[in-house]
Amino acid sequence: MLKKFIILIDPGHGGQDPGAVNSLGLQEKKITLKIGIKLKNLLKNSNLFYPVLTRNDDSYVSLKKRRDFLKNNHVSFLISIHVDSSKKKYVSGASIWITTNERMHREINNFIKDTKEHIYFPKNIQNLIQNKKYDLFLKKTILDLQFNNFQKMEINLSNYVFQQFKKIIKLDKITPNYASLGILSSINTPSMLIETGFITNFSEEKKLRTDEYQNKIANAIYMGLKNYFQDTFLSNLRDT
Ligand SMILES: [Zn+2]
Repeated sequence: MLKKFIILIDPGHGGQDPGAVNSLGLQEKKITLKIGIKLKNLLKNSNLFYPVLTRNDDSYVSLKKRRDFLKNNHVSFLISIHVDSSKKKYVSGASIWITTNERMHREINNFIKDTKEHIYFPKNIQNLIQNKKYDLFLKKTILDLQFNNFQKMEINLSNYVFQQFKKIIKLDKITPNYASLGILSSINTPSMLIETGFITNFSEEKKLRTDEYQNKIANAIYMGLKNYFQDTFLSNLRDT
């Protein structure tokens, strides 16, 4: 049997942190949780994935806790779900965010300097790092190469998600944006943050609060993941 890909779904905010709130009182944390749970259920029914949620109710989960989970587990991909907001009420549409090179290099350098820091890496990387324990340059090179692979994966997967989003949401651009965000800065996990629309836009907020639209978004992310992992990993397996 094939090993399942572990997808960590991170519904943004929660508990005392409502995220963005619009003039009608709709809270970002409620929409992210609903989409997150819907995405989890879709992934669970696929034999490709093993989905895990960072929260499955309205509880507060600190950034440290979310990052600790990534540090201590082998997660194939992290999807953080958010809803955007803007003072300009006319702004609408979805976007995808991935980490900057600068942030990642900083995180890698910090890890190399800090000998007490424990991060879970897949066996092949772990063995290399362990062997090169005292060779900081090689250790850094290995982690930089791994990050290059992660970034390729993030850009490719964004493409797959955009192909699905195109059918249901307005998109200003179909390439990811780069940001230095704590949730996207784990050096052992590729990740992306999806802004699923604007809570401050009248027509988009009206859709975002409906079950039907939340289903559409969850399904678009699911189809993006499924197509990407099938095309990338299963076709490789068939070739060998
Ligand atoms: Zn947010």
